[in-house]
Amino acid sequence: MNSTFMERTENAIRGLHRLAYNIWWTWNPKAQDLFHMLSERKWRSSNHNAVAVLKAVSHAELQARLCEKEFLVQVEEVLQEFDDYLTKQDTWYNEHPEGNNGDLVAYFSAEFGLHECLPIYSGGLGVLAGDHTKSASDLGIPFVGVSLFYRSGYFQQALGPDGWQHESYPLIDPKLLPVELVTDEAGNTVTATVQIAHSTVTFHAYRINVGRATIYLLDTNREENDLHYREITARVYGGDSTTRVMQETILGVGGVRFLRKLGLTPTVYHMNEGHSAFLTLELLRERITQGDQRSDAEEWVRQHCVFTTHTPVPAGHDRFTPDLLDHLLSKFRERIGVDHDTLMSYGRERPDDVGETFCMTVLALKMSRTANGVSELHGRVSRDMWKGLYHVDDAEKVPIGHITNGVHILGWMANRTRKFWHKHLGQKWIYYLKKEAIWAQVSDPELIPDEDLWALRYGLRRDLIEYVRRMMRHQYQRIGADYNAVQDGILNTDVLTIGFARRFATYKRAPLFFRDFTRAVELINNPDRPIQLVFAGKAHPRDDHGKRFIQEIVGHSKNPALFGKVVFLENYDINVARHMISGVDVWLNNPRRPMEASGTSGMKIVIHGGLNLSIQDGWWREGYNGENGWAIGGDEHSDNVEEQDARDLALLYDILEYQVIPEFYERDEYGIPRKWLQRVRKSMETLIPQFNTDRMVSDYFTRYYRPKK
Ligand SMILES: *Cc1c(COP(=O)(O)O)cnc(C)c1O
Repeated sequence: MNSTFMERTENAIRGLHRLAYNIWWTWNPKAQDLFHMLSERKWRSSNHNAVAVLKAVSHAELQARLCEKEFLVQVEEVLQEFDDYLTKQDTWYNEHPEGNNGDLVAYFSAEFGLHECLPIYSGGLGVLAGDHTKSASDLGIPFVGVSLFYRSGYFQQALGPDGWQHESYPLIDPKLLPVELVTDEAGNTVTATVQIAHSTVTFHAYRINVGRATIYLLDTNREENDLHYREITARVYGGDSTTRVMQETILGVGGVRFLRKLGLTPTVYHMNEGHSAFLTLELLRERITQGDQRSDAEEWVRQHCVFTTHTPVPAGHDRFTPDLLDHLLSKFRERIGVDHDTLMSYGRERPDDVGETFCMTVLALKMSRTANGVSELHGRVSRDMWKGLYHVDDAEKVPIGHITNGVHILGWMANRTRKFWHKHLGQKWIYYLKKEAIWAQVSDPELIPDEDLWALRYGLRRDLIEYVRRMMRHQYQRIGADYNAVQDGILNTDVLTIGFARRFATYKRAPLFFRDFTRAVELINNPDRPIQLVFAGKAHPRDDHGKRFIQEIVGHSKNPALFGKVVFLENYDINVARHMISGVDVWLNNPRRPMEASGTSGMKIVIHGGLNLSIQDGWWREGYNGENGWAIGGDEHSDNVEEQDARDLALLYDILEYQVIPEFYERDEYGIPRKWLQRVRKSMETLIPQFNTDRMVSDYFTRYYRPKK
C-alpha cells in the first residue's frame, strides 16, 4: 500500500461518515448500497440506518474493506455525487426569475416522516413534512425545519392472536441515528429555555442534515429539568392536553428561540398545521420587547408567517381551556406584556367570548399573512368552516387558498423502478420531475414498450409478495403459530393485487370492502379472475373503534375462505409503505368525503405503474380525468353517513367487477393487458408532473414564501 492510496482510504472513511450523517442517502440508492455492502445484517436489523452500520464497523475494518479497489472507487463516486449535490449552483432557486434574495424558510411541524429509522412521525402530516424538506433541498431553497426529538417516537404496532393492536414505545438512541447534538464552536451544547407554569424548562436540539436543508429537533430530556418536563418530548402526540400545550410551547416558542441562538433570522415562518402556532406569540413578544406597539408587532408577525391547515373536521383542531393556558403560559404571557383575556382573544373566533376555548388554528389564521388547505376541495371546506372568524356569509370571501399536496418521488421510488426509468429516459430525468414534457414521453410505446412496462409490474408485484411472506413469517413466529405449513399459500404473483394502507382513522373506512361479505368473498375467490388484498395501518392508541377495524380485517385474513388472499401487515411505517406502494396493481382509497384533506399515499404508486381506485376526495378529485384510474362516485356527496357508505360500497363492487378486474385479466396473445397498460401510461403522464413535492414546494415558494411587496 502506498501513501496516496492510504490518503484515498482515509478520505473515503471521512467521507462515509459525512455521508451517513446526511440523509441524502435516503433518496440515493447508490449511497445506500455502500452501507448495505458494509454490513448486510446490520443494515437490515437497524431499519436501514447508515449511522448504525458505521458504528458497527471498526476503523480497521473500513480500511481493510477499502483495500478492495472496486469498493473504494464506488465510495469515491458516491461522495463526488454527494458533494456535487451540496454545492450545485444551477438549482431551481437560483434560476428562479426573481433570483436569490437572501431568503430563509423556517418550516415548523410537530412531526417529520423522513425515513423508517427515525420514528418521529405518526402519519401523512409527517410524511408530507419530510417530503417537503427533501424537495426544498433538491430545489436549492434555503430551508430550516423545526420539530421535537421524540425519544420514544410513535408507537410500534404488534397484533395479538385475536387481532387486537398492542402498542410499545422502544427508546431510540440518538447516538445510533443520523442526528447530531447541536453544539457551539467551542463544542458546548447549545441550549435555550421557555417558561412553563412556574418553571424554566431547558432544552437542547439534534440536527438532521437533509441534503442542503437542516432540521432541528428540540429535546427537553435534560437533568436540570424536573422529571415531568423531561417527558414533554418523549412521544409523538403523547399524553393529555397538558402535555400537548407543553409540547406545542416547546415547538413554537422554543423553536423560535433556538433559531435565534443559532443566529438565524428566517424571512418566512411556515406553520405546517396549528401545533406550532405559538411561534407567532414568541415573534410578537420579540417585536414588543424591541419597542414595537402591539398592533405594529402583530402586523410584522403577519407579514412573516404563513399557515397550512390539514384538518377538514372541527373536532380535529387543537383547543385548550382558559384555565389550562392560564396555568401553563402565564409567565410567558407576562413577558409579552398582555393580560389573560388578551392572550385568549388571539385563539378565539369571538375574542370577547370568555366561554370559548383557545384554538391553535384560529391563532395561526389570525397571525399569518396567508393560509391554505391541501387540495382544492379542502380549501373550499376550510373556507366554509372559518366563515365565522372572518364575519362573512360568503365562504368565497374567506382568505384561505389551496396548494395541493405532493410526494417526493425519488424518495418513494423502488430501486427496480429507478433502473427502469434510467434505462428508458436516460440519466437526466431526475432533475426535471415536474416537467410535463418528460412524462409526455410515456405515451410513446416505441420508447417504453408495453412488454417492458408489464415486466416491471410483474417484478414489482413479486418483490412485494416476497416481502409480505418474510413479514408474515415474523408475525407468525411472534405469536407461536406455524408458518412453514402455510408460506407458499400466501398471495399469488399472477393475481390482481390491491393495497390499502393508512392510519386507521375511522373516516377512512378500512373494512368497507368487506361490508357485503358474500360479495367480497365472491370477488376474491372468482376462479378465473381472482383478486387479493394487502392491508396495513395503525390505529391511534386511544381509538378503540379504529382498533376494532384492524381486528375485523385480521379476522378476515384468518378465515379459511380468504386465507392467503387477504393479509394484514403489522407496524405500518415508511418501509412497509415503500414496499406496498411499489408492488400493488391498484391502490384503494375509500374515505368518507370530504374528510380526506388530500391523501398522499395514492400519489406514491403512480411512478411504479400502479393505478388508483378512489373516492373523489382530496387530491384524487383533481387527479382523476376519466382514463388514468377509477373514481368511486362523482364530485358530490351525501351528508347522510349511512347513505354515503351504502352508495360508495355498491359503486366500489361494481367498478371492481365490471371495470378493474376485466381490464386486468383481458390479455392479448402475448399475455399482455394492453388496455390496462394504456391506463397506466395515462396515469403516469397526467399525475407525476402534478402530484410531486417539487411542484408543491415551488408553488409555496412563489405564491406564499415571498412576501408581497
Ligand atoms: C404516505 C403515508 C401516509 C399518508 O397516507 P394517506 O394516503 O395520506 O392516508 C401515512 N403513513 C405512511 C407511513 C405513509 O408513507
